[in-house]
Parts: sequence; structure tokens; C-alpha cells
Amino acid sequence: AKEFGRDNFQFYAPEFNTRAHEKFVLQEELRNALAHSEFILLYQPQVDLRSGDVFAVEALLRWKHPTRGIVAPNTFIPTAEETGLIVPIGDWVLHEACRQNKAWQDAGLPPLTVCVNVSARQFREPNLIGRVVNALKDSGLEARYLELEVTESLIMQDVELAVATMNALQNLGVQISIDDFGTGYSSLSALKTFPVARLKIDKSFIKDLAVDENDQAVASAVISLGQNLHLRVIAEGVETDDQVAFLRKNNCDEMQGYHFSKPVSAQGIEKLLDGKRDG
Ligand code: C2E
Ligand code: CA
Ligand code: CA
Ligand code: CA
Repeated sequence: AKEFGRDNFQFYAPEFNTRAHEKFVLQEELRNALAHSEFILLYQPQVDLRSGDVFAVEALLRWKHPTRGIVAPNTFIPTAEETGLIVPIGDWVLHEACRQNKAWQDAGLPPLTVCVNVSARQFREPNLIGRVVNALKDSGLEARYLELEVTESLIMQDVELAVATMNALQNLGVQISIDDFGTGYSSLSALKTFPVARLKIDKSFIKDLAVDENDQAVASAVISLGQNLHLRVIAEGVETDDQVAFLRKNNCDEMQGYHFSKPVSAQGIEKLLDGKRDG
């Protein structure tokens, strides 16, 4: 790199341009993916820890790339968020999740709640409520079967705005849960004013739950907090029998994770629920 190393500008400029260029390329690819229907949703069951029933599924976005195969959301959502493309992509997710949930109900499956992740950019969009109303109208899904997952850190960025938006959603009959709970430092006094139905204990606290006393302390504190505020509590990222045993013993309400099922296709959910029905 001797010829480029004569001064810093020349040395660093190509690297910077590469990153900017990569982002630009990804942005174009995402636009193209949206236009060519390359996005799909997988669904991960959420299970009642007492009854063992599947009562809800979380919709998780995947990009079915023509040459690269299935692409995970963490590789493209940050760019989608930065460029604003998360708004139309998120709108597609909302419509598709509502459509699929209504199709399951029409096919005679026991009614499920479908949980949809909403990013910060989407949540702050002035027309979020209108978009949710449209997704419900277009699909014919009743509002009570839709739940939006918003992260604790998103809410804490602007508590007043978040509470106003959450109230408007609640008035529609849509449920709200706080995702990644325990990572974002909500004050307890703020938490009690949030119109939410559930807290989702972040999977970072579940991972070493069987052995880590600090994680045990956080998990049991969140569970008690939920009980005292009359909120349901779900643990995410549950993989092992030991984790399930701890959650049961501490009266956690619900769980989600590979222990019960990985995220699967819509058909996979049908099979899973049919299997349960047949015993
Ligand atoms: P998240 O909302 O916290 O979702 C949970 C993630 O944990 C998912 O990763 C899920 O597949 C994974 N997971 C589930 N069970 C287990 C387990 O037992 N062990 C472990 N280690 N992981 C488990 P995924 O599907 O790759 O999604 C990653 C993140 O991408 C999500 O985190 C969410 O923040 C975001 N995301 C996914 N779909 C959407 C979407 O439609 N819209 C938006 N805005 N964000 C989305
Ligand atoms: Ca989530
Ligand atoms: Ca989460
Ligand atoms: Ca997370």
C-alpha cells in the first residue's frame, strides 16, 4: 500500500468509500428484494409454562436471497433502519403476519396471537397507527390477535412519545409487549404507566440461567415485577430443561426458544399444532 500511504487522506479514503459503497449496494439490494418479494416470515411458538399450550407466535423476518440463501435479519436490519427502508419492509411484515394469522384461523387452527417486532424508526413514523389499521383491515384479523414487540431501549429514548403511541395502539385493541426487557433501565415509576401486556426477559439473562446467580436474580426480579404490576412475563431464548425448571419454579408465565421449537415456516406451525391436537 506504499503508493497509497503517502498521506492519511489517500490511505483511509478507499476504506471509507468501500464501507459507504457496501451500504449503498445493500440498500439497492433491499429495495430490489422488496420489489421481488424475496422476504419471508418464520414463526416461533410461544408456550404457556403451566398448560404447555402454544398461544402465540413471533414473526421473524428472513431474506430469501436468490444466490446467498436465507439471510438473517441482523445482517440487514441495521442498514434498513438507517436508510428508512425498514418502514416499507416493516409494513410488509405487518401485512403478511396479519394475513397469515387470519389464514390459520380460517383453516380452523386454535386462535393465536401473532407478535411483530417494531423497530425504532417504524415506531416513530407519524403514520404507524394508520399502517396498523390498514394491516388489520386488509387481512380481516381482529386487533386482539396482533401484538407489537417494542424494545425497552426504544421506549426509553422518548418515554412521552412512546406512551402516547402505545396508548393509541391499545385503544385499537392491539397488544404490546416490551422486548429485551432488563437491558434498557426503565424506571419502575415509568414502567407502571406503560400500557403493555407483557415483559419479555432478554435472552442474555436466560443463557446461563442454570449456573449464573446474577442472571437468576435478574430473572426472578423481572418475574416478581410482572406479578406485582399484573403483567405477564415471557422468557426468550429458552434452550434447556434446567432453564425451564428454573422458570417454572419461579412462576414465570411463558417461554419461547429452541427448547420447544426453532422459528419455522407457516406450514411448520400448522404441523406442530396439528400434532399437538392429535396428542
Ligand atoms: P429478537 O426480537 O430479540 O428475536 C429473538 C431472536 O432470538 C431471533 O433471532 C430468534 O430466532 C432467536 N432465538 C429464538 N430462540 C432462541 C434460542 O433458544 N436460543 C438462541 N440463541 N436464539 C433464539 P432472529 O430471528 O435472527 O432475529 C434477530 C433480531 O432481528 C430480532 O431479535 C429482532 O430484533 C430483529 N427482527 C427480526 N424480525 C424482525 C422484523 O420483522 N422487524 C424488525 N424491525 N426486526 C426484526
Ligand atoms: Ca422480538
Ligand atoms: Ca428479544
Ligand atoms: Ca434481542
